[in-house]
Amino acid sequence: MIRENIAAIRQKMTEAALACGRDPGEILLCAATKMNDSEAVKEAVANGVDCCGENRVQELLQKQPLGAYEGKPVHFIGHLQTNKVKQVVGRVDLIQSVDRLPLLEAIEKEAAKQGLRQDILLEINIGDEESKSGFTPGAVMELVQNMGAFPHCHVLGLMAIPPISTEPGGNRKYFTEMYQIFVDIREKTYDNVDMVCLSMGMSDDYADAIACGSTMIRVGTAIFGARNYSV
Ligand SMILES: *Cc1c(COP(=O)(O)O)cnc(C)c1O
Repeated sequence: MIRENIAAIRQKMTEAALACGRDPGEILLCAATKMNDSEAVKEAVANGVDCCGENRVQELLQKQPLGAYEGKPVHFIGHLQTNKVKQVVGRVDLIQSVDRLPLLEAIEKEAAKQGLRQDILLEINIGDEESKSGFTPGAVMELVQNMGAFPHCHVLGLMAIPPISTEPGGNRKYFTEMYQIFVDIREKTYDNVDMVCLSMGMSDDYADAIACGSTMIRVGTAIFGARNYSV
């Protein structure tokens, strides 16, 4: 099923891009692999996802030695505890979920220690939800001006998980807001900041996200099927 699912998603991605005059080639498909085993992930990689996104450190450490992501970049997309930073920095190509200053500081410290520069996205809590972490838009605008103080981090863009929508197209206002922030920052020049990635859109709303300017969608259910939370 994974092969057919990815083909269907690619088709819908292309249609969504062309419908708003965008080049389909500029939008990447990230497989959100949580709770799917290394065999399923390998199948997704073999069938042309652009990268994989893992939510939990434990799953990353389990699947990576099994070659689950081999041939494609792997990203970290889940909430990251500061005490687990050393297991993630240098092990993933991109940390999408940098959602608070202490985490950024911990990544900077660990990347310096390992002598590398870690690519990251800044996560915005665009729905201003209490249950979610993430910077406010204002905090991100301020932070990008100060990224020179984090020479071992490289901001490649923004990420958001908007509120669960109850109606079709319900998240467009959040996606549009994210795009505006993305463009505002992209138009300026800041040290250690290159705005190339706007990561937003999931199984239920990726076509809307693409219409609003997303450059990377993170899709789990539509690729792998429903996750089994009972095991
Ligand atoms: C699980 C997850 C996704 C994908 O969600 P689906 O609705 O299954 O497509 C995307 N982003 C993050 C951060 C996730 O945790």
